[in-house]
Amino acid sequence: MKVEFYGVRGSTPTPGKNTLIFGGNTSCVYICLETGEDVVLDSGTGIIALGDRLEKTSGPINILLTHNHWDHIQGFPYFKPIFQAERDIVIVPGEVDCDDKDAILTQMSGSTHPVKFQQLPANIKVDAEKSQLSHFEIPGFKVSTQRLNHPDGGTAYCLMAEGKKVAYVTDNELNAPNVKHTSWQQWLEFIADADMLIHDAQYIEADLPLKLGWGHSTFSEVARLACEAKVKNLYIISHDPARTDEELLFEEQKLQVEYNNKLNIFCAREGTVVDLAKKNTAQQVKVTP
Ligand SMILES: [Zn+2]
Repeated sequence: MKVEFYGVRGSTPTPGKNTLIFGGNTSCVYICLETGEDVVLDSGTGIIALGDRLEKTSGPINILLTHNHWDHIQGFPYFKPIFQAERDIVIVPGEVDCDDKDAILTQMSGSTHPVKFQQLPANIKVDAEKSQLSHFEIPGFKVSTQRLNHPDGGTAYCLMAEGKKVAYVTDNELNAPNVKHTSWQQWLEFIADADMLIHDAQYIEADLPLKLGWGHSTFSEVARLACEAKVKNLYIISHDPARTDEELLFEEQKLQVEYNNKLNIFCAREGTVVDLAKKNTAQQVKVTP
């Protein structure tokens, strides 16, 4: 099983000289099995580069969305397979609070986009029923779900395949002061013993209390959760758009020193490919304390 990071930035794309190491594209992760079966997680601007690759293939495309905030759907209008006639694309939207489960499509309507979703030649289906299930299957993967603690709701996914477990949890506020769909204990059970946890940590302590309740976690909270759940590899995503490469390297090194020998921790970098079949799955440069 290979996990590939196409977009790791939160909120808004951030090209520029301060994001060259970690990347500026918004959320998109791609998982591919040895059988060739695959799944796309989220549809931020990272999905655009993935589209250049998938347009050369012909199989059905399965996209699991966490939620409909713009940074998780905004790459879809530029995802080349949607312009391929008869291409099958199935989208499972997150379990959001509003009645707009097809927001990924309707963003291509009205006066916000020149090409309307009804004009797309691909066979695109939004499978909203799956969003409400705690367990379901897509080709190659067993999937379980959990509700995110995030404004407007959303869904976290655990994907099991080839004897590996990958948890994708973004955007999520572990210590949300408002309505909490999922408790710390429930998260521990959901992600327990995962080979890889991909979790949002957009904030540092200094961002609070202003951003308390905005739906994201801090680096220290996420590292503690991953350690308690005996996760093997933690990849932090949804980097704050204002967080520079230098600052992310600083946060990463701090966590690596604190959790040395307990688990591998990285701030995910756009372009990183992690092959979970390899014995040592720590496949980004790890800082030596
Ligand atoms: Zn969000």
